[in-house]
Amino acid sequence: MKERSCNILISGGAGFIGSNFIINFLKNNPNQNIINIDLLTYAGNLNNLDSIKDYTNHHFIKGNICDRALIENIFEEFKINSVIHFAAESHVDNSIASPDSFMQTNIMGTFTLLDVARKKWMLEPFKVKDDCKKNRFHHISTDEVYGTLGETGYFTEETPYAPNSPYSASKASSDMIVRSYFHTYGLNIVTTNCSNNYGPRQHYEKLIPTVIRRALAEKNIPIYGDGKNVRDWLYVDDHCEAIEKVFFEGRSGEVYNIGGNEEKNNLEVANTICSILDDLRPRENGKYSDLITFVKDRPGHDRRYAIDASKIENELNWNPIYDFESGIKQTIKWYLKNL
Ligand code: NAD
Repeated sequence: MKERSCNILISGGAGFIGSNFIINFLKNNPNQNIINIDLLTYAGNLNNLDSIKDYTNHHFIKGNICDRALIENIFEEFKINSVIHFAAESHVDNSIASPDSFMQTNIMGTFTLLDVARKKWMLEPFKVKDDCKKNRFHHISTDEVYGTLGETGYFTEETPYAPNSPYSASKASSDMIVRSYFHTYGLNIVTTNCSNNYGPRQHYEKLIPTVIRRALAEKNIPIYGDGKNVRDWLYVDDHCEAIEKVFFEGRSGEVYNIGGNEEKNNLEVANTICSILDDLRPRENGKYSDLITFVKDRPGHDRRYAIDASKIENELNWNPIYDFESGIKQTIKWYLKNL
């Protein structure tokens, strides 16, 4: 299947996961062309792609995925035959303060990309153009669409959707639209729902970069509520590897959950980072964990997420390489070099 997808449109490739994905993917697949559309919002940064700036098979376009005329032109000009769709407004706190752009980008942007793909690749429902038979649309989503868990249990691909924040509601909406394009039109789609990522190039607004940055600046490290909200943490390279597997080998119309089986609460995450920093760059007085400060909880804060990733593990033979300990050490070392 690898030879089929030579001109891949990647949306949001200047963001955290998208940039890591492009760098890894072009290393593994030097014969593929990537056309990367990104609006360069506050979350996008072209420096994230510095290491591939001389690659002739990576073409960057600054643009909005909601701009239908632009997307149509890109499909035409670059003969796009697959899409991997990362672009999104991605920060829950921002979605609480200003949900509008989440609805625009995450819902209408996904719809625009999907609908242009349908128009360009298909003659009518379930009738794909002859030269588009292997074209694929891969939608990148999150485990947050499933809502919150109690002390036990895991999200599977069959767990009913119950999004609780404007962010997760907008992602849930986009997942449903993607699903409908498979069932109504027969578009070749796959969706992956992943747990919390961490690693190099993540925007400083997210938990792990915030803890590292504020600790090094000797500022208080804010932790929401009682710090007991649990997330399943996955190193970004493992997510990228899983996306590549699903993109090339996943079954059409299927959803795959991706997770690291590394449940940690926010306080544990902060304490782990602090104790690694104590070793790597000790403070003059005291320990970094002295800076941890509890702050008012986020409204609607989901208590626990945990992924059952057995479908992708069994079907596509994917397993994470990094455990939390090795991934977080690597991440901290990257921030120490790059902050
Ligand atoms: P990010 O915020 O770091 O990057 C998003 C990118 O999309 C940015 O470069 C931004 O400029 C771009 N963008 C935003 N609006 C756009 C628009 N209208 N048109 C074109 N580009 C636009 O996000 P991320 O953490 O890399 O997440 C990428 C995807 O993965 C998202 O769809 C997110 O929902 C999903 N996801 C993220 C995580 C995580 O832990 N970070 C976990 C699971 C799933």
